[in-house]
Amino acid sequence: MSLLLTIFAAVLGAVVGSFLNACIHRMPLGLSLTEPRRSFCPSCKKTIPWYENLPLLSWLALRGRCSTCGQGIAFRYFLVELLTGVLFWWVWESYGLPLAAPYWVFVSLLVTATFIDLEHFIIPDEITWGGVILGLGLSIALPEMMETSSRLTAAGLSLGAAAFGFGLLFLVVEAGKWAFGKIKHRFPDGEVFDWQREGDQAEIVLGTEKLIWMDVFSREKDVLTIELDGPVNVGGREVTASKLVFHYNQADLAGETLDLDSLERITGRMRSIVIPREAMGFGDVKFIACIGAFLGWQAVLFTLFSASVIGSLAGIAGMFLAKDRAGTRIPFGPFLALGAGIWIFGGRLLAEWYFSNLPNFRLFFEF
Ligand SMILES: [Zn+2]
Repeated sequence: MSLLLTIFAAVLGAVVGSFLNACIHRMPLGLSLTEPRRSFCPSCKKTIPWYENLPLLSWLALRGRCSTCGQGIAFRYFLVELLTGVLFWWVWESYGLPLAAPYWVFVSLLVTATFIDLEHFIIPDEITWGGVILGLGLSIALPEMMETSSRLTAAGLSLGAAAFGFGLLFLVVEAGKWAFGKIKHRFPDGEVFDWQREGDQAEIVLGTEKLIWMDVFSREKDVLTIELDGPVNVGGREVTASKLVFHYNQADLAGETLDLDSLERITGRMRSIVIPREAMGFGDVKFIACIGAFLGWQAVLFTLFSASVIGSLAGIAGMFLAKDRAGTRIPFGPFLALGAGIWIFGGRLLAEWYFSNLPNFRLFFEF
């Protein structure tokens, strides 16, 4: 019986993972999660019959290709189903009933947020604010989540932890913007820059580096400043100036304001460039609130700490692997999800053991 339930948990996870794949694909594009109800091939739009939509098995049987058009189906589909299956099994083994149920919901949110953030650098509000509401509601329904028997206390602890996480990371993000909000690159011998727009999409090429405009201007008030080395070509017209300042949809050049929506190309040579950098987005701030609502304030501290440590290590590794890529961004959301996951699967016990064995440090750390 116990083995059967364990298998059930893993299979349930794989089935839920299949739904999460649809969320990961549809949510950032603003597509409905319920219509169409059936999965379809993103390439040829053919509705996928149920026997080709079995979690894990179908992807393997079809060798990761659509049976109609032969277009590859991303490995991500298989990975998300496998990961969710493993996480559901692990939650079941670690907690059993009744706590497994809310934690299944929670790990589903973690998986969805991680894969959307990796691809789009956003975590949708449905996940973050939706997660706060779910975490609060489930804490009231099941006060054990907050290690209390009172629903009112559980509600207070859940909401308090959400607010605590939100406030703490908000301050960190604001401080980070102030301290590390920009990257400056100098080119003593001069370097070419080439801004181009096609329809709604724009990009800027800096030497051998290409930046997507949307990625550079993640905040509306950001500016990208270029110290010029010679005249600028603005849509075929030569302008001489010392500085070119880009905003998201306009540029300042020699006392003139250029409307970027009416221009297709601006090129020239530069001596230096200052690029705005987003270390962490507001989505992460809302995401840690969701983690707090489900796991409590201790988990907020643990998650922020472990996510920062792992994220820094990954950032250093990435710098060595990718050289100095201008404006390269690593989303922070997956590290938050990882930190929260570590808390669920052992971090909590580790923290409890630590604090119960070091009573003197306890006073020191509980500020
Ligand atoms: Zn297809």
